[in-house]
Amino acid sequence: MVAITPDSPVATVFGRSTTKRKAVEDGLGLRTVGELLHHFPRRYVRTTELSEDVTPEEGEMVTVVGEVASSQLKTFTNRRTNKPGHRVEVRVVTQGPEFTATWFLPHRTMAEREQARMAVGSRGLFSGKVQRFNSRWQLAQPHVVIFGRGDGEGGPDETLAASLKGLMPVYPLTAKLYSWDLQKTVAVALDLVSGVEEELPEEVRGRHDLPDVMTALRWIHAPDDMDQVHAARRRFRFAEALVLQLVLARRRAAQRSLGAQARTGGQGRLLEHFDARLPFDLTAGQRKVGAVLEAELARPHPMNRLLQGEVGSGKTVVALRAMLRVVDSGGQAVLLAPTEVLAQQHHRSITAMLGDLAGGGMLGGAEDATRVTLLTGSMGRAQRQAAMLDIATGEAGIVVGTHALLEDEVTFFDLGLVVVDEQHRFGVEQRSALTGKASSPPHVLVMTATPIPRTVAMTVFGDLETSVLRELPAGRAPIATHVAPLAEQPHWEERVWQRVAEEVAAGHQAYVVCPRIVGDEQEVGESDAPADPDSGAEGAAPRAPAQPLTAVEDLAPQLRAGPLAGVRVEVLHGRLSPEEKDTVMRRFAAGEVDVLVATTVIEVGVDVANATTIVVMDADRFGISQLHQLRGRVGRGGLPGLCLLVTRAEAQTPARERLAAVAATTDGFELSRVDLEQRREGDVLGADQSGFRSSLVTLRVLRDERTIVAAREEAERLLEADPDLAAAPVLAQRVTQIEASASSDYLEKA
Ligand code: ADP
Ligand code: MG
Repeated sequence: MVAITPDSPVATVFGRSTTKRKAVEDGLGLRTVGELLHHFPRRYVRTTELSEDVTPEEGEMVTVVGEVASSQLKTFTNRRTNKPGHRVEVRVVTQGPEFTATWFLPHRTMAEREQARMAVGSRGLFSGKVQRFNSRWQLAQPHVVIFGRGDGEGGPDETLAASLKGLMPVYPLTAKLYSWDLQKTVAVALDLVSGVEEELPEEVRGRHDLPDVMTALRWIHAPDDMDQVHAARRRFRFAEALVLQLVLARRRAAQRSLGAQARTGGQGRLLEHFDARLPFDLTAGQRKVGAVLEAELARPHPMNRLLQGEVGSGKTVVALRAMLRVVDSGGQAVLLAPTEVLAQQHHRSITAMLGDLAGGGMLGGAEDATRVTLLTGSMGRAQRQAAMLDIATGEAGIVVGTHALLEDEVTFFDLGLVVVDEQHRFGVEQRSALTGKASSPPHVLVMTATPIPRTVAMTVFGDLETSVLRELPAGRAPIATHVAPLAEQPHWEERVWQRVAEEVAAGHQAYVVCPRIVGDEQEVGESDAPADPDSGAEGAAPRAPAQPLTAVEDLAPQLRAGPLAGVRVEVLHGRLSPEEKDTVMRRFAAGEVDVLVATTVIEVGVDVANATTIVVMDADRFGISQLHQLRGRVGRGGLPGLCLLVTRAEAQTPARERLAAVAATTDGFELSRVDLEQRREGDVLGADQSGFRSSLVTLRVLRDERTIVAAREEAERLLEADPDLAAAPVLAQRVTQIEASASSDYLEKA
């Protein structure tokens, strides 16, 4: 007999049925025995009990355990052929809904046999496509396995029922395939297969009390009880988590082993001067993170740190101080921003904070002064050439810009520190496109305002060390958030504009955010910003075409003409030229504009202390984290903030629940959890993690926190003793596979 291995084609365990083999190969995409064995049951039903309460969906393939409550045989005349036909109709009661199962049979004897098999009181597994007919659930021609009778009398298929050991696995299915087809095939595979590789060394299994791979496969496909299922699942999740954490731990180790130039501050006194003129005291958190950065910049290895902090926690100052330290050491620092507006704002505020310290090479500049240079994609040729020259000659100590900085023609004199703002918009590749511009690996600081639960940080950003700014600077005022539900309370719209007018009358400013720029067009976003994964929010409420989404260019004139007459209303969106955008933002920051009607271009980092109110139109179109970001634009200058979420979504829809969640808390970590729970895992991991995503099969970053933490510790322990995993070759091979696929993803995109 030929040996069957995990690499053997599924055909080797499938007997003669080509239909079923094809269904497995094409429908489920399982080509090898190994893949088949890793196609795990979705759930299990106890064959001694009726099905749990499940609500079927029209057209869905279901497998239910039920009892035959009545059975009828009807004979009729087929209208087309004019021949007699026979229909067996059986009422199946389950713990959930009742089903009517019907079979059409050409011969009376066949029909009688079928009816006898399903005598009243028989219990079995019914599997087929559900339909709704005459307000009853129907199963047309379902496949049936009868276990026996509810009253204990034996039935014809009792041996099979016995072989199910009381727990029947229910697999994710496809057409022309039934749960027990898979179950039988998997049973054959489990019996015949040899050479299934064990990736977990025995000591690791011992430490974490995990079954070996073959035992776990048997337990997951043919369990005696749910304890076995749980143990098996734990093993597979742990193995996945461990491989992932090994990849990440090795990356960290590789980073640590690289040489970088230590930036100790040298003779420069920029930072000292900057600190002396800072108009506020740093928070304890800012000081602590500052000290960590200083220490890491001084080491001859590249720093790789993620700085997480709520919106408004003051990350920019922390980053700027690190940048100044690098400039003091004779190097350059670059700040990469996700949008044009944000880059411009950073450039403006850094220049302003530095004052004459930013006047390098200019009349009136301070002695130690450096130059802050902006580079964005839409700058004119001459401006751009000048900026690039500053950067290449080292004239610019601090460079601020967008994706335009990643282009090949941009070269640095001596790039020492890369700061990436709002990481969630940048991929790993982009980070490396920038770091590649340094002659030796630069130090890297990634900042994100989207709070990331610990396990996600560990998984997604596992190659970065993490610092968190928890406290907000003193004087931060609370933000009150309200939902304006126009579906039930149409007159609230008027009230919203009244509130805005009141704020303006009190000398404050407001943002009004719309999902669209004009008419029926979609917001296209910033010219050099990548597609926004958040737009077209998940679970958005369906709406009638009679209610188009609010557009900036429509709303602004309406407000000027109506509820906000006499108020200085301006617009900001991605279709304006960079100069126009910059001008509007400057005027808003200077208080020359009262109300800024904008798209989400203001989402990240825009910072105007006097703005107290933000109105989000069609708020149901935005995701939770996006709304939280938007809300972070107000409540900054010691003035209480107000956030009004205007929606036409109906009550009790997922969209309204999201808005209620945002209104209920300003704790970003809490919201981020709610948000992530609503999303699929792939979205959590982001596009830049494709190499990882495909490796996550049973692991869930949120649910499996304990497993991930344990795996991380185990990964560190294994690598410490055995950096190349020589003693665990199968594990080593899995790790290299992911490393290779992650880097090939990178090469493909580059
Ligand atoms: P974010 O973390 O959202 O990027 P910013 O760095 O933009 O926050 O800071 C928000 C505002 O708070 C800025 O105006 C900044 O000048 C100010 N700020 C930062 N640190 C402090 C502090 N320690 N005390 C008072 N204000 C601060
Ligand atoms: Mg910021």
